Amino acid sequence: MIRLYDTRAKKKVDFQPREPGKVSLYVCGVTVYDLCHVGHARTAVSFDVIVRHLRNRGFDVRFVRNITDVDDKIIRKSLTEGRPALEVAQSYAEAMAEDWKNLGLAPPDVEPRATQHIADMIDVIRRLEERGLAYAAGGDVYYSVAGFPGYGGLSGQSPEELLTGARIEVGEHKRSPLDFALWKAAKPGEPQWDSPWGPGRPGWHIECSAMSHRYLGDAFDIHGGGSDLIFPHHENEIAQSEGAFGSFARYWMHSGMLNFGGEKMSKSLGNVVTIRRVAETHDLEALRLLLISVHYRSPANFSIARDADGNPLYPDLDEAEARLDYFYRTLERLDAFVATLSSPPSPPPSDLARHFIEAMDNDFNTAAAIGHLYDAFILANKLLDDPKVAPKAERQATLTALARDARMAGDTLGIMRRPPADFLNDRRARLCQR
Ligand SMILES: [Zn+2]
Repeated sequence: MIRLYDTRAKKKVDFQPREPGKVSLYVCGVTVYDLCHVGHARTAVSFDVIVRHLRNRGFDVRFVRNITDVDDKIIRKSLTEGRPALEVAQSYAEAMAEDWKNLGLAPPDVEPRATQHIADMIDVIRRLEERGLAYAAGGDVYYSVAGFPGYGGLSGQSPEELLTGARIEVGEHKRSPLDFALWKAAKPGEPQWDSPWGPGRPGWHIECSAMSHRYLGDAFDIHGGGSDLIFPHHENEIAQSEGAFGSFARYWMHSGMLNFGGEKMSKSLGNVVTIRRVAETHDLEALRLLLISVHYRSPANFSIARDADGNPLYPDLDEAEARLDYFYRTLERLDAFVATLSSPPSPPPSDLARHFIEAMDNDFNTAAAIGHLYDAFILANKLLDDPKVAPKAERQATLTALARDARMAGDTLGIMRRPPADFLNDRRARLCQR
């Protein structure tokens, strides 16, 4: 039985999919207005590992991850780059696809783009209007939060608490400060589409309600995203989808944030580390290992140091790469040992396999799972170093099982999937260049 932490229930619960053996999952993707950084990588890798584990446990997973390709940030970027917003989005979506491939992310089953689902969004907004949950004002359309009593349930805030400090900005036509835009009236130079309320573009939140409904229907199993999306984005998605269709996601999962030596990553602090920057000096598999060395819900740190010339150094990444080097060297030794056996045994699952699966079934605890992998490799090296540590047959069976089960673990974590020599040669070459 898999247990997971449900943000809405605020506790760990048994995972019971709607249909036995099947999992439907929607994860909020990136707003493509710049190159992806290591913070984006953390969310993406967290859910990649969750999907991999569910699949390895035999679930038939349908995984939908959207691309937000129309948004205020993209429009602002198009002004600074001097090219149309849709062109900006397209080029950063292509860059993201390349980064995700290099990070070894399994592609989602569906990767819908917001601009290809405007009609779906208009449908959801019309439904909300019919149900008295949306109103048009000044060419915009707003969600009427007062009509949805469950508002605030995901983030654990009451509407009264939320109202404190909320205000209506100049130019907005809301009735209440908590109301949010479903549709925004067209402004000159911005991407726009025709709608029953006049030309305009969708609000960000409605995009996910429309796309998740299109591909997963009225109800599905898991909705995921970074914890920074809990409020307001996911709270608003719930209000929209449950308001329009009566049901929505059964479980809510959120990955923790990535901190940078105690600082928030920002361009002004000069500590934005893009995935491409990491790839210049490190193996991206090491970035993946670093990101999953911490449980997906815990905050993780990415430290940045400086050399004498002020160039950035990434000590955590160096350490992760050294650890991966140890993993691959051990795998290489295990393979060489198994190759010497004239009739390799087929041993039952090792302690590694059992402990690894137990850790992953317990809310996808990759930190504990990697600990078990490490222990198993220490044991493997001990057995390889000294044949006298165990009787011959037992030693052969244990080493054969470890070679096999370490790969099962690597498959779930998305690491150790290359022939060891490939990784080790790449790393040697890279260390010479540094
Ligand atoms: Zn979303």
